[in-house]
Amino acid sequence: MKKTHVIQGTLWVFIYLVLVSAPLVVLLIGRVPEGREFWRELSVALGFAGLAMMALQFVLTARFKWLKAPYGADIVYHFHRQISFVALLLILAHPLLLFVFSPQTLALLNLFSAPWRARAGVTAVILLLALIGASVWRKPLKIEYTNWRIWHGILATLVIALAITHVVLARHYLNTPWKQALWVTYGVFWVGLLIYVRILKPILLLRRPYEVESVTPERGNAWSLTVRPVGHAGMKFMPGQFAWITVLSSPFAEAEHPFSFSSSASQLAPLTFTIKELGDFTRQIKTLQPGQKVYVDGPFGHFSIDRHTHAEQFVFIAGGVGITPTMSMLRTMADRGDRRPVTLLYANKDWDSVIFREELDALKDRLNLNLVHVLEKPSTDWNGETGFVTRAVLGRHLPKASQPNSVEIFICGPQPMINAVENALTQLGVPFGDFHSERFDLV
Ligand SMILES: Cc1cc2nc3c(=O)[nH]c(=O)nc-3n(C[C@H](O)[C@H](O)[C@H](O)COP(=O)(O)OP(=O)(O)OC[C@H]3O[C@@H](n4cnc5c(N)ncnc54)[C@H](O)[C@@H]3O)c2cc1C
Repeated sequence: MKKTHVIQGTLWVFIYLVLVSAPLVVLLIGRVPEGREFWRELSVALGFAGLAMMALQFVLTARFKWLKAPYGADIVYHFHRQISFVALLLILAHPLLLFVFSPQTLALLNLFSAPWRARAGVTAVILLLALIGASVWRKPLKIEYTNWRIWHGILATLVIALAITHVVLARHYLNTPWKQALWVTYGVFWVGLLIYVRILKPILLLRRPYEVESVTPERGNAWSLTVRPVGHAGMKFMPGQFAWITVLSSPFAEAEHPFSFSSSASQLAPLTFTIKELGDFTRQIKTLQPGQKVYVDGPFGHFSIDRHTHAEQFVFIAGGVGITPTMSMLRTMADRGDRRPVTLLYANKDWDSVIFREELDALKDRLNLNLVHVLEKPSTDWNGETGFVTRAVLGRHLPKASQPNSVEIFICGPQPMINAVENALTQLGVPFGDFHSERFDLV
């Protein structure tokens, strides 16, 4: 990891902690409301911290490149998921402490008779529970991803708006200019963020459109979508990164999907994405016609050889369509004339479904490439590796590292494959920092 990323990463964590704890500090400044016992103060303080965390959730998913650069998009999304449970606990602690130490406050749960401040607070908590429940159980509840995403945004906005209404109507903690200034700043920042994400960002994308150049069938039920920029130079990216693609829709419509670049990073344009048919959106790729508008929001991600320039050699472990970021890295290395040794362990169901089979073979002439295919269901005359990428397979093909960081390993494929390979590498004694995974399943 680059030194600047370590510094940036530490700085963001520090700023996050300051922003989350600021309401507590400001709470202590000035006059504390009279006749309010410790438990009531504590409950309010926890509620404030939880609310600040919830408001900051919008920053985490706003796709700011400067925020994601030190960690990578998947880590930021993972943090977003996990920290929502902490925020929920803090927010629930607020009413629960009140109910325990002032049982008469239980009456506030009756939405018919309760004052508006309690109605706003109780409704915010109910919606927050629905928001988190739908996210945790989206797949078992069979909630379609795009619908879930739209409702996730609506519910999150309502939760914050209602919680702020609760704070304003409760008034106890807006009794000094300091406290008012803090909450006005938070409110303005939050509204500004919404305007940026929902209005400014789509406008910026509209001004840098792409159009379909070609759609080419690949092996393994996949299609390579090539797009060229219209009226601008294209996009600079690191090989292995990804972008959010919108097709057949406007950038305002919340209908984008993430795909890794499969083309070489040596060229700003055209850009190619190789997409496997999986669901409603990916099934439409083959129907796209040359000239149709495409919007590309990126680049994102930290899964790239360019973040490990010191490496003496690379190992890529790919499964199925997980080859796409690797393909971008291999094509880029070939274009750059990079002759560092590369091992590619590529797992597929059978020989016919090996995406880029012919090109990978041809790349051996341009790269110092050791290509190992692993087939789950090989034909009877196959004499290569069979089954899955196990510890034994890795043991046979992994190069020996002269020191930590000399061999950098990149893994991308189905979730169970990534988990199994990470475990096997750990058992083989590969240092944690020497392998990097890209998960196609962000949510
Ligand atoms: C960083 C990253 C890189 C990816 N690169 C590639 C690639 O190069 N080639 C490729 O074929 N696939 C890639 N994917 C996976 C691809 O985004 C999904 O397969 C695609 O979005 C599925 O959409 P669908 O409507 O066809 O399928 P659905 O059946 O609707 O969705 C299947 C699953 O894909 C995920 N998904 C769906 N829509 C989205 C969305 N808008 N945002 C995030 N996740 C979503 C959800 O987990 C969902 O359950 C990548 C995913 C990520 C996160």
